[in-house]
Amino acid sequence: MSFLPQNFSINSKLIGGELVIGGCKATSLVAEFGTPLFVIDEADFKVRLNTWRSALVRHFGDQAGQVYYASKSFISVEVAKWISESGIGIDVCTGGELAVALAADFDPEKIEVHGNNKSEAEIARAIEVGVGKIVVDSHQEIERVNRLAKSAGKTQSVLIRVTPGIEAHTHEFISTAHEDVKFGFSLASGAAWKAIEEIEAAPNLKLLGLHCHIGSQIFDPEGFEAAATRLISLLAKYHQHFDRQLQELDLGGGYGIAYLPDEVTYDPDLAMSALAALVKAECLKNKIAIPMVSIEPGRAISGPTTTTLYEVGTTKNVELDNGAARRYIAVDGGMSENIRPALYGAQYFAILANRTSKATSTSSRLVGKHCESGDILISEIDLPSDINPGDLLAIPATGAYGRSMASNYNHVPRPAVVAVVDGTARVIVRRETQDDLLALDVKESPRKI
Ligand SMILES: *Cc1c(COP(=O)(O)O)cnc(C)c1O
Repeated sequence: MSFLPQNFSINSKLIGGELVIGGCKATSLVAEFGTPLFVIDEADFKVRLNTWRSALVRHFGDQAGQVYYASKSFISVEVAKWISESGIGIDVCTGGELAVALAADFDPEKIEVHGNNKSEAEIARAIEVGVGKIVVDSHQEIERVNRLAKSAGKTQSVLIRVTPGIEAHTHEFISTAHEDVKFGFSLASGAAWKAIEEIEAAPNLKLLGLHCHIGSQIFDPEGFEAAATRLISLLAKYHQHFDRQLQELDLGGGYGIAYLPDEVTYDPDLAMSALAALVKAECLKNKIAIPMVSIEPGRAISGPTTTTLYEVGTTKNVELDNGAARRYIAVDGGMSENIRPALYGAQYFAILANRTSKATSTSSRLVGKHCESGDILISEIDLPSDINPGDLLAIPATGAYGRSMASNYNHVPRPAVVAVVDGTARVIVRRETQDDLLALDVKESPRKI
């Protein structure tokens, strides 16, 4: 058995040069289910659900609110069941994501609904099934949720999405007075305070607290801390004004994970210990009680658990202007199932998954089969020079924003998702077929409308 970088899922191993995930050989998985294939390490996923929950509880104690898994990173009915069984909550931001959670019999009380433009039908459905919280995002939405709750004869609990003027990136954060984004109510302009007043005056809304989400793939605590500091001062202002306290503070997700071998996934325990120390200190300073604190990790749970397996179809040696050579390796998928590199220059890592190679490494570019030059999975990576058609390549850490963002570009059917554990494998999302794609094309006579 040889060493695999830590950006592979916990139960991944190299045995005799072959990648084995959850006790299943890459070659066996591919023979059974085809390529491209998302392979999800079920035990790893469940461990991460519990690790985030216990880190929140360890550091916030009685003030630990809920961990809401951000379903947009990846969700299916089976995965929603794992989340439900682990006891944590789920965040959904469309009627479609809500439908998946409900299909998994998720306790509605543990569902939180996000989105900057929820339709009236989505809001009405959420209220009807009794979701625990709706995170309101605009003045119009306050009116809509109140009105729809009234017609359902209910009072809906809400949080306010606050834009705290903090923008966090992977290794830095920027603090600004105003934020030019579509989400939430800005703190600096007073919009957040106005939202508080509107909700307080709305008879069918119950304001539980404040929410923010500052970005994604963040590795240091400063951005989270700066955002928490600003939200806590708003909680203090509420306390002074209304002489009572809001009970909840939801600080969103965005915790970073390792995509490349030299990166390190943000440790949940470190993340929660830094956040708890800051929240406690700021509440003391502002003379308010510590609220219940919730978080919404998505990528940090789903991302590291999944490996995409591809089969190599063609290779090409291309001479560059500077005289150097680059080897193009084309696999049987690409930007339709793992769009992050093409969409925002994200970096991935890959290994040869079906055998060992003693060949020298050569500068390679991993590309897909789509009709775009930008259909690149890995722009530059050293891979064995004898990788040839029929070989399998594995890209780890593709569980978040891969399958969930997948498209049918070029009419390529979206891949299956297979859960592996202890040498067993089962399909949890089946591969699309050409019939699925053709099923949307209809032959209809024109009608007068
Ligand atoms: C996307 C999102 C998350 C999850 O972000 P990750 O980077 O996947 O952890 C959490 N909360 C909200 C409101 C989001 O939009």
